[in-house]
Amino acid sequence: MAPPQLAALSMPPNFLIELDRLDLDVPFRASQAHIHHTWARTFHARPELYLRPQSVVEVQKIVTLARRMRRRVVTVGCGHSPSDLTCTSAWMVNLDHLASVLDVSKERKTITVQAGIRMHALNLAARDHGLTMPSLGSIDVQSLAGAIGTATHGSSMNHGLLSDYVRSLRIVLANGQAVKCSASQSPDLFRAALVSLGALGIIVEMEYELSDHSNIEWAQTILPIDHVLSLWDKDLWTSHEFVRVWWLPYMKRAIVWKANKTDKPHAKPAYNWYGGSVGFHTYHILLWISQYVPRFLPWVEWFVFGMQYGFKDGATIRAVEEQRTGLLMNCLYSQFVNEWSIPLAKGPEALTRLTKWLHGDEPGSAIPFSPNGLYVHSPIEVRVANTVDRHPRPFLDTSCPNEPSLYLNATLYRPYNQDPPCRERYYQAFEHLMKEYDGRPHWAKNFESVDHSYLSKAYGDDLDEYLRVRNEVDPDGMFLGPWHRRTILPPTTELAAFPLEEKEVVRRQRHTGGVDWVGEQARWYDGGVDVFEKNGSESGESFDLMAGAEAEASVLLESLRDDDEDLEVEKRRREDTEEFFISGTNVFNKM
Ligand SMILES: Cc1cc2nc3c(=O)[nH]c(=O)nc-3n(C[C@H](O)[C@H](O)[C@H](O)COP(=O)(O)OP(=O)(O)OC[C@H]3O[C@@H](n4cnc5c(N)ncnc54)[C@H](O)[C@@H]3O)c2cc1C
Repeated sequence: MAPPQLAALSMPPNFLIELDRLDLDVPFRASQAHIHHTWARTFHARPELYLRPQSVVEVQKIVTLARRMRRRVVTVGCGHSPSDLTCTSAWMVNLDHLASVLDVSKERKTITVQAGIRMHALNLAARDHGLTMPSLGSIDVQSLAGAIGTATHGSSMNHGLLSDYVRSLRIVLANGQAVKCSASQSPDLFRAALVSLGALGIIVEMEYELSDHSNIEWAQTILPIDHVLSLWDKDLWTSHEFVRVWWLPYMKRAIVWKANKTDKPHAKPAYNWYGGSVGFHTYHILLWISQYVPRFLPWVEWFVFGMQYGFKDGATIRAVEEQRTGLLMNCLYSQFVNEWSIPLAKGPEALTRLTKWLHGDEPGSAIPFSPNGLYVHSPIEVRVANTVDRHPRPFLDTSCPNEPSLYLNATLYRPYNQDPPCRERYYQAFEHLMKEYDGRPHWAKNFESVDHSYLSKAYGDDLDEYLRVRNEVDPDGMFLGPWHRRTILPPTTELAAFPLEEKEVVRRQRHTGGVDWVGEQARWYDGGVDVFEKNGSESGESFDLMAGAEAEASVLLESLRDDDEDLEVEKRRREDTEEFFISGTNVFNKM
């Protein structure tokens, strides 16, 4: 008999029957009160079930039950992906309670963790052993699995994606099997799982490569963009291990941030009265006013960054801190982000064209969209990665395989959760420009004009390979939703919808900003018909047999070691006691 709290769930009648067929000693931790939203509160969704397993066998039970109940499963880290990628009305799995450190090897410089661990907690655990993550993006609060799942990256010519440091991983597939893969064990599955977009299965464990713990010394300087462009082919990107640039198009200046490892002791940046909460709130209010008076924005850029860096070129701020915090920055307010990678060598041309367009010079920019009356928030984030000769590569690696990559991120703030009026035209123009360089969009972000046909061009055989592996390990589309259909899959006229693939029904504008997202599998929960009950040909029993047979016949799975036995080695969860959350203070220290 299912425990009373599960019997109380509002579910179709066969739910309890199916639940009773599974091992009752393995908990099924489900609730129905959860409302999911993205970090920027741009999307909200209410899953039928919100599941927080505490062991790998619990994850396996969820997948088995979902298969029998004909439900899609979405795994969510901390919902920091800005798009609707993690929205579902079906079953949502969160691994915050499957987040322990299992092992640290100082000799091999690796850490083995459960996949729900946040990178901040991972780095704290690694520090106890004199180790740290080799590279980070702007924040470290994401789950490790979520960060690698969308090709999260930092900015360095010595590093690529965070996925590049995964040595091996264990994933629960649609048939309930927990399998391990690495560069030498099921390499195709590994390459697909390194950037999986959640569409392969539930990653439950990872072995991750670390580097020696270190301080970094960073310095950031405001410079004219012509000067920055003149350094582009010299040592702009190579003089330091970590380099990133913020492009201020209206001021025609850029902030260049550089950092190297150092033995020097910690040193705080010089005090600037404006750089704390005064600047934070002033900037926010000015952005909000610009919603109504957009032409105010060039002046806002000049004022805010002038107050922070001085109104003359060459002002520098420097500091020394731990690498694990020094690489981070405050991302300020709710925002849309649209980031693409293009060849680094095309950077000066692309940035010059975009700057001209933002200054109203449509012919000079050769971007065929009118910039008349359009003003945007700045800065544009400019970052690099270098993955040349890196093997194995994720099939969906956003960086360029044969040359260094430049990532351009068109950020648009949403002051007090309001969408900026320039978004549609700016992103049309920006994406047009990026596509002219065969750019690859950051999977997590708010790109708008990307579909299978474009990605086939940008990724070639790699997209086909990813989809081949994906379709083999999840033939019924248990891990697929409308984001995947719209983006990576061909239209349904070319590839019919998978039986468990979730479809979007409606999105409704919220009064408080953002949208409510409703998928097809919400119908039962919302008091409608359970569409899957009607499909008599798809009984859970027969599907289970089919899934098992397919798993056994799979070429991919041939070499897999079924190592469920040792999955229950779950060491005491590390309590993450240290706090490092940048709030309203020191926000402009970096940028
Ligand atoms: C403020 C902010 C700053 C950011 N800075 C950067 C940056 O500097 N560089 C950069 O590249 N990106 C950046 N991002 C994007 C962010 O790193 C990615 O969106 C990342 O995927 C978020 O991780 P998450 O844990 O929130 O995962 P989610 O957004 O919850 O999920 C992301 C994807 O991973 C899948 N997934 C999650 N867990 C699992 C699992 N266990 N098994 C299988 N699939 C799983 C999900 O299904 C989904 O497809 C930033 C985002 C924000 C909001």
